[in-house]
Amino acid sequence: MTEKWRLLALTGVTATVVYLLDLNPVINAVCTLIIGGNTVWACFAGPRRYGAQPRRAWQLVGWAGIIFLLGIIVRPFATDAGLPLLADACTIPGYFLFCGFFIVLLRARQSVEWHTVIDGMIVCLAGGLASTLLLAVPAVRVPDRSDVVSALAGLYPLFDVVLLMLVLSLTFTARSWPPSLISMVVAMALLFVGDLGYAIVGASGHLYTTPLLDAPFLLAYTAFGVTPIHPSAVEMGRPARPPVPAWSGRRMVLLVPALATPFILLMTVGDATGHRVAIAVIGLLVVSLLLVRAIAAVRAQAVAQHYAEHQATHDALTGLPNRRLITTSIERLLGKTPAGGPESTWVLVLGLDGFKYINETWGHDTGDRLVIEVGERLRSGFPDEMPVAALGGDEFLVAALGDRADAERLVATVLGCFDRPFVVSDVELKISASLGIAFAGPEGEPEELMRDADTAMYQAKSEGPGNTTFFDVSMHDQVRERIEMEVALRQAIVDEQLWVAYQPLIDVDGGRAIGAEALVRWSHPERGPISPAVFIPIAEDAGLIGMLGDWVRQEALRQLAAWRADGTVDDDFYLSINVSAKQLTVSTFPLVVSAELLRFGVPARCVALEMTESVMVDNSGTSARTVYELRELGVKLLIDDFGTGFSGLGYLRRFPVTGVKIDRSFVVGLGADEEAGEIVRAIVAMSQALRLSVIAEGVETRVQRDAIAAVGVTIGQGWLWGPAVAPAEFAAAWHATGTAATLAAGLTERQR
Ligand code: C2E
Ligand code: CA
Ligand code: CA
Repeated sequence: MTEKWRLLALTGVTATVVYLLDLNPVINAVCTLIIGGNTVWACFAGPRRYGAQPRRAWQLVGWAGIIFLLGIIVRPFATDAGLPLLADACTIPGYFLFCGFFIVLLRARQSVEWHTVIDGMIVCLAGGLASTLLLAVPAVRVPDRSDVVSALAGLYPLFDVVLLMLVLSLTFTARSWPPSLISMVVAMALLFVGDLGYAIVGASGHLYTTPLLDAPFLLAYTAFGVTPIHPSAVEMGRPARPPVPAWSGRRMVLLVPALATPFILLMTVGDATGHRVAIAVIGLLVVSLLLVRAIAAVRAQAVAQHYAEHQATHDALTGLPNRRLITTSIERLLGKTPAGGPESTWVLVLGLDGFKYINETWGHDTGDRLVIEVGERLRSGFPDEMPVAALGGDEFLVAALGDRADAERLVATVLGCFDRPFVVSDVELKISASLGIAFAGPEGEPEELMRDADTAMYQAKSEGPGNTTFFDVSMHDQVRERIEMEVALRQAIVDEQLWVAYQPLIDVDGGRAIGAEALVRWSHPERGPISPAVFIPIAEDAGLIGMLGDWVRQEALRQLAAWRADGTVDDDFYLSINVSAKQLTVSTFPLVVSAELLRFGVPARCVALEMTESVMVDNSGTSARTVYELRELGVKLLIDDFGTGFSGLGYLRRFPVTGVKIDRSFVVGLGADEEAGEIVRAIVAMSQALRLSVIAEGVETRVQRDAIAAVGVTIGQGWLWGPAVAPAEFAAAWHATGTAATLAAGLTERQR
């Protein structure tokens, strides 16, 4: 199928040729109607077909096309009837519509620039001067004709110049020239030629002579029809902000003739005084504009350069100096630090506590705005000459020269910035910051100093929110230790140094093991056993938790399948497996678990997954979806360390949780302090209302067991019944039938 725009171009050229044959007025009118009709159709239908925007702009040209068409048809008859103004009454509004089209299009491209506008004005002035002196003035002198008619005839080229200027500002700001743009430029040029022809004829005293004069208009029409129907029309309305050079060869082609115009006119028609005055005034204006333009271009260049420099040395979000710029400030402070005195250069690095949580709960927009607010508060908290920087993310840096007491004051001032809550997008956020601080004498290196403060800050973070840590060299060892641990852990997963221990979950009433928690163990070949409390956080930080978690889960499910097969456990016995919050952000997690259940032949009801409350307050959506999909599989979902989180309890209703594990810290307090008892009672009451199972963790004594039983907790876990042990040991102690079971019963009996 031939493309529509080719068909339109072919029809247009053919109709023009037929028109030129001037067979008879009716055929000519038909040709004109075909061409004009095609273009009008293209303006309305093209953008709809290819989605060229803005649609309104193209509709304006469509209407301009209709009006021009009317003008062309009317002109021969109107001229014959002695009413040439009738045709102009059609044509002139068409020009305004055309102007509207360009303005709407340029605005959509957001590419109106000062130098472009000034260039247009220069060309316009020169063109206007030329067409007035060469065409309009002679036309007015033609006798036996209304001055209005004559002046109009001479002014058409001026309209074209305005349009030409607008089309040129389109081309100046276009990175490439799509076919649509080319056809539009061609159309404008043809329109100009046509109007010039009429104007010349008009200046010689006639108004309408031969069909040849109409040919440029018909072809212009055709070219303009191609523009909206060509697929590349979509490119024209797209916002284009290429850095447009203020001076370019293309522009010179336009500007040089414009500048030369006054001089050429002075030499050719500059004999009359009136003409000379006009030329002088316009010439002066053109030169002034040229000067304004030059200044504007230089200023724009300077602004752009300043902007680029600022961007490179400042944080984009807060506008504070960035790491690069602050390094030189610290260097300067170090240079000013006196050797041997009590004064040093101090560098304080601070990180917002729980920033990730804020981002996830309230969105990155709020997070960004919080960072901006913190930056402003810090900046206004210190004198201007004191360096305050943003290190990216949620970290800031303050540097100062002084003694230890000054450093303490610095810390106090920074902490003071967090006394009041931050109000960000209508949310009141009370946050704290972790501070790390380090110092150096004149021989210090800025990078080292910053790194030390950073290390101290991470140390402070690890000790809990709102902490301040002064750097000391042992921290380097801790950092190294952590890195070594990470390497060793990777190796441990590969070398099978990990194994899974099982701790029974006991039915408090009967003393029977109704399930077990799977707890990972690491036996390091040299260091011996390493606690999961140490290596799990490292695995989470190092991105190893997914791999590690997969391994533990598969190992545990394999073990459960074996125990179920050999009768060690009965059909209701379940394994509780820890799942880290990071694992739940992986959307395929439920799919993986479901496949594993099938693979090991373990029913979903025999598996519980333990997760902390932090999962429930993560608003990112992925975790929530994952939790729902897991519940749909039929596995139990338990909240681990229940009561220690800072979240409300609303999530218990919103999430498909099946039970809670009361944190050890409450169980320890049971019987001893009244408050712990109240909390546990409240948790049990709420769980009963929501039909959740309740497990008490860390039960070590019979007193604690009796206390939990008294408040209605039915399941316990803790050293009272036994620690987590290797699978063989577990099976021996807790066999569902036979001797082990009797032994277990005896054990609980004794403890009662
Ligand atoms: P958790 O999930 O709260 O596990 C309970 C911890 O309390 C275990 O420490 C357990 O040995 C210990 N415990 C049990 N009974 C008593 C008691 O009567 N008294 C006292 N004082 N402690 C008791 P463990 O095995 O060192 O694990 C520490 C933490 O490591 C776990 O806390 C859990 O958060 C994490 N963890 C362990 N295994 C895994 C795992 O496979 N995956 C993940 N993601 N985390 C795990
Ligand atoms: Ca647990
Ligand atoms: Ca726990």
